[in-house]
Amino acid sequence: MHIRKQRLLTPGPTPLYPPALHAMMASDIHHRTEEFRTVYKSALAGLKAVYGTTNDVLCMAASGSGAMDASVSNLFSRGDKVIVCTAGKFGERWVEIARAYGLDANVLEAPYGSVVTPDRVEEALRAEPGTKGVFIQASESSTGAEHDIESIGKMVRKTDAIFVVDAITGLGTMPLDIEAWGLDVVIGGSQKAFMIPPGLAFLSVSPKAWELGKSATLPHYYFDLKKEKKSGDGGESTWTPATSLILALNEALLYIRGMGMAKLVENAQLLARATREAAVALDLKLFATRPGSSLTAICPPAGMSSAVIVKGFKQKFGAVITGGQGSMKNEIFRLAHLGYFDFSDLFSVIAGLELILRANGHRVELGKGVAAVQTVYEAAEVGVQAAA
Ligand SMILES: *Cc1c(COP(=O)(O)O)cnc(C)c1O
Repeated sequence: MHIRKQRLLTPGPTPLYPPALHAMMASDIHHRTEEFRTVYKSALAGLKAVYGTTNDVLCMAASGSGAMDASVSNLFSRGDKVIVCTAGKFGERWVEIARAYGLDANVLEAPYGSVVTPDRVEEALRAEPGTKGVFIQASESSTGAEHDIESIGKMVRKTDAIFVVDAITGLGTMPLDIEAWGLDVVIGGSQKAFMIPPGLAFLSVSPKAWELGKSATLPHYYFDLKKEKKSGDGGESTWTPATSLILALNEALLYIRGMGMAKLVENAQLLARATREAAVALDLKLFATRPGSSLTAICPPAGMSSAVIVKGFKQKFGAVITGGQGSMKNEIFRLAHLGYFDFSDLFSVIAGLELILRANGHRVELGKGVAAVQTVYEAAEVGVQAAA
């Protein structure tokens, strides 16, 4: 056996930023001390900076779904009319949460791989002027599709409804102008473009969302946004925080802010574009009609299950990539670009993909996909900056 390095190449958890990982070793710290308050305040300020908003940004010990749950339980009341856009497994999660809390959900569904178009949302808003909220995924990670958040946001902002955006894989992979587009709640998760392990959820809350929350009557306890905001202003979290993750977050945010959030987005966009071109060069079809940059979902060649490709990466190269979820299980494989990914990762992923495809009878010329990635790299002149 030869060396095969373990590589985590999934769209969450994502590769870890080493200095953030090292920062976690300083977890022998108490959370009700000035020492920790300094770190926590810095992390919250960093979140606000990378979110690019003056809205409140809160942090909670939970996976991303915790913040999705909190946005419903804190801001809505039983029977509230809401619009839920769903274009994949994560959209279905919104539907389930809304129903679990007894919201009256008008579900706008799009088939896997496509998106809910702005005109459908506009029509639904017009049909029900009493709508209190619109829920959506910025990037639907189960299919690789990206919603037109700007157009939909600008529509929702003209109504009394708040726009609740699961941007868990949207943050750091696509521009999200929270104030200009009217994004009232924007949800993030630590294990995506933030380059640290799972366990923290983030959400920004606009004045309009706080206002709606005032009349909200759904029960909640652990996830209490008002309480969390008050604690955060004092440099603390309401409950015992996930100290090690906050230390990591603070370090990762320094890195992201140093680079600039726009650059992190551009990084994902370039890798996504290069991946799409590689797929075309290898005669593979893309799954999403409106592909985003957090990940690229690719259909295997006709007659081949994507499970073969996922298994090939693990066995040949020690790399973990993901197949599809639910009914898409064997129909797609997903290559991630969010967070701590670079062109060297992509060169090797595409080179590996070519070898796996050939080993399974799909005739591709060696190097064709890699060349497509190299061409995008050269055109973008990423190297010039790195060397300067
Ligand atoms: C990862 C992810 C989530 C949250 O999943 P958790 O397992 O709760 O972190 C939600 N929405 C999208 C689009 C995601 O990619």
